[in-house]
Amino acid sequence: MGKYHSKQGFKTIITPSSYKQKIHYDRVASIIDDHKAAPQMALISRLNPVMTGWSNYYSATVSKVVFSNLDSLMYTKLKAWAQHRHPQKYGGWVSKKYWQTIGDDNWVFATRQEGKNPMRLQSHAETKIIRHVKVKGDASPYDGNLIYWSSRMGTHPEATIRMSTLLKKQKGKCTHCEMYFREDDVLEIDHITPKSLGGKDDYKNLQILHRHCHDEKTTEDGSVVKYT
Ligand SMILES: [Zn+2]
Repeated sequence: MGKYHSKQGFKTIITPSSYKQKIHYDRVASIIDDHKAAPQMALISRLNPVMTGWSNYYSATVSKVVFSNLDSLMYTKLKAWAQHRHPQKYGGWVSKKYWQTIGDDNWVFATRQEGKNPMRLQSHAETKIIRHVKVKGDASPYDGNLIYWSSRMGTHPEATIRMSTLLKKQKGKCTHCEMYFREDDVLEIDHITPKSLGGKDDYKNLQILHRHCHDEKTTEDGSVVKYT
């Protein structure tokens, strides 16, 4: 930790409010609930982007303790998920089926498939804590650069143009948290007035948000969202 100390000999760590942690945990829990009968691989591949997106975003402000707490909440939730699938089996059997040691890491929630590399769940605690994150200056490299976005969004020209137009309009900033988008951020297009409340599908009613900012907003704007 020493290397993070500033010259003045102190540092400030801001913890995302417990409210934000709860929104994130609720999302994760609802994904697990929606995958009661799904294969472990499907669950892991659905969870991983949510885990890394949230962790990367908060890596600048969060402490390792918060990440570890979230991981242990998730362990409890996943243990119940696993046990529920095998009501006749003992806890030890269930643990062995769904958790394993990979390298130096014990208790990794990961798949076991003959002849294949395990697919593993990304933990919060694995995220590197970064102490400098705000993009300096008043421009984002991602404020509508069409070439960048087409390489990122693949071969969906309509989505690319939409994303690029909105990014230009927002000057590369998320309208919810007002931070510049960074390369690894997961972005989503949001209807400002939710479609379920009559919001239209045109530019005036669209904005780009970080995925977790989108989560926060949709829990507050009265729209109906199901995470699957
Ligand atoms: Zn945001």
